[in-house]
Amino acid sequence: TTALSIKDLRKVYGNGFEALKGISFEVEEGDFFALLGPNGAGKSTTLGIVSSLVNKTTGKVEVFGHDLDHNATLAKCELGVVPQEFNFNMFEKVEDILTTQAGYYGISAEDAKERAEFYLRKLGLWDKRDQVSRMLSGGMKRRLMIARALMHEPRLLILDEPTAGVDIELRRSMWEFLTELNAEGTTIILTTHYLEEAESLCRNIGIIDHGTIIENTSIRKLLKQL
Ligand code: ADP
Ligand code: ADP
Repeated sequence: TTALSIKDLRKVYGNGFEALKGISFEVEEGDFFALLGPNGAGKSTTLGIVSSLVNKTTGKVEVFGHDLDHNATLAKCELGVVPQEFNFNMFEKVEDILTTQAGYYGISAEDAKERAEFYLRKLGLWDKRDQVSRMLSGGMKRRLMIARALMHEPRLLILDEPTAGVDIELRRSMWEFLTELNAEGTTIILTTHYLEEAESLCRNIGIIDHGTIIENTSIRKLLKQL
């Protein structure tokens, strides 16, 4: 099964800037895939389009076979999204942020509470469950973003620079968490500009530069070439 299929994807922003020049790549179910490239390459634009936060100009995107143009609702149910910027209600309590999210997906209050507890414990946020999210540290907010993205148990998790500005200790614990999640069957795609991060975590890789995919291979093959 193909988890994500991108064909000839092009994005021209409102100011005329061509951020994606017709990129294509696929990610198979079960993969841990890194979209690697320097700042400004087009990584966030690509994931933004997949998660319906950015409108594409032309091209085709399918999530588990659901075309974003025709079956956006089905595609969204398969997807968990962790954007770079914190976008939750800063005055809502940590646990409520998770149960509210679950409600959007029609998950029962009982299941929502159970799942929230599971992820809060797993991500070391259980002690903070009654605090408003504004009070959390940057690293905690990032973990909360991940927990929220998982509440509806998506088959594909996409994360935009999940460890940017995160200290080394937390980075390692997030890597562990993501590796375990992948081992349990969730397909994961992340963007990063650290080769080291891609190397530690991922199986396959797409390298993007100036809006073009310049390499699409396995980490193993890439490292042999270097
Ligand atoms: P779209 O073409 O998807 O409608 P726009 O070009 O209208 O997007 O821009 C969306 C937002 O991004 C605007 O608020 C704009 O100010 C902001 N923006 C403009 N240039 C940049 C940039 N280089 N990087 C990030 N954001 C930008
Ligand atoms: P990356 O995530 O790889 O750093 P982005 O996808 O954020 O790259 O940006 C790709 C290019 O598109 C950059 O040159 C950026 O300045 C430009 N860009 C991003 N958002 C906008 C926008 N809203 N309007 C105009 N240009 C943008």
